[in-house]
Amino acid sequence: MMPRNFWLFALLPLTACSTPTTPRVHVSISVDWEGRDLSAINLNAFRTLRKAHPNVPLTHFLNAAYFTKRDANATRVQADIRKALSLGDELGLHIHPWQSLVEAAGVNFRTKPTIWGNGRPMRRGRRDAGHEVSVEAYTTDEFEAIVRKSKTLLAANGFEIGHSFRAGAWLAGPRVREAIRRVGFLVDSSATDTAWHDEIADTGLPAMIKKIWPTVTRQTQPFLVETAAGMIFEMPDTGALADYVTAQEMSDHVDEAVNLIQNNQDRYVHIGFHQETAARYLPRVTAAIRTIKAKHGSLVVFETLETSAQHARQNNSTLQSNGHGPQQLSNLRFALAILPPDQDRGSSGW
Ligand SMILES: [Zn+2]
Repeated sequence: MMPRNFWLFALLPLTACSTPTTPRVHVSISVDWEGRDLSAINLNAFRTLRKAHPNVPLTHFLNAAYFTKRDANATRVQADIRKALSLGDELGLHIHPWQSLVEAAGVNFRTKPTIWGNGRPMRRGRRDAGHEVSVEAYTTDEFEAIVRKSKTLLAANGFEIGHSFRAGAWLAGPRVREAIRRVGFLVDSSATDTAWHDEIADTGLPAMIKKIWPTVTRQTQPFLVETAAGMIFEMPDTGALADYVTAQEMSDHVDEAVNLIQNNQDRYVHIGFHQETAARYLPRVTAAIRTIKAKHGSLVVFETLETSAQHARQNNSTLQSNGHGPQQLSNLRFALAILPPDQDRGSSGW
């Protein structure tokens, strides 16, 4: 005989699914790989973070220029990069227009403008040059070639890049945005608030960032950007990177987001660091996460950028009402590029 309350039980899961969840703050933590060098001291620094926070995934913006250096040993570079990756991390793309990478893409290398402003010309390094050249120095076609080459090179070395991108020095202007969209990138995380960059206020960079992202502040939430090649979903780097932000400032930044939760709306924030300065600045991120967890518990969720983007796309009411209809939004289809536990990548290091 059917129990009297059978239907009640049958409906329970549905009811649970349709109940609005408590709004939360979604925190993505990114790593910018500059393409300069891979040293043991920085790669080993990731271990402390992993040990302290094993369930906090990272979004890596990888750079293909490690593979184009004149003396690069691809096998060693692969192994070095893998030391810093973990299951559940996301792989995105970061580009600084290094000479070796630009030329590998069949593009003429440019030496200016640099990200530091006109008075500061590019310096030539021992192994490569071009890190401080603005990505906007290149035409859309040229930058598209550099993006394609980067993706191909990284894939050939076992690093399949997903749909997230960050421009070198946050300078994703119109040409860069169109170029990355042509190659299939759907999420950009170059928008940032130059208020964080007081340490480099004497250079031209903060003004260049401000010119590209004039209305972006540390409170800016995800928004859509139109390019000639289609829409891009902008997930702002609201908390910049640890070289410019202390542990206290990071946790204050999340406190502020928690306080701004209202009208049943989730908030999205971003913090991060550079691989090349991980030994020095990653401890700030590790400490900030500890403070954030202790203060806010389940009100804050740590996730990859792409997971955050998917969530924001579906739940952010500002996005739903900003003039872009649901049809355009539905054209943004995200395919998860989170590292799967598959056999292809080998069993070690992920
Ligand atoms: Zn960078």
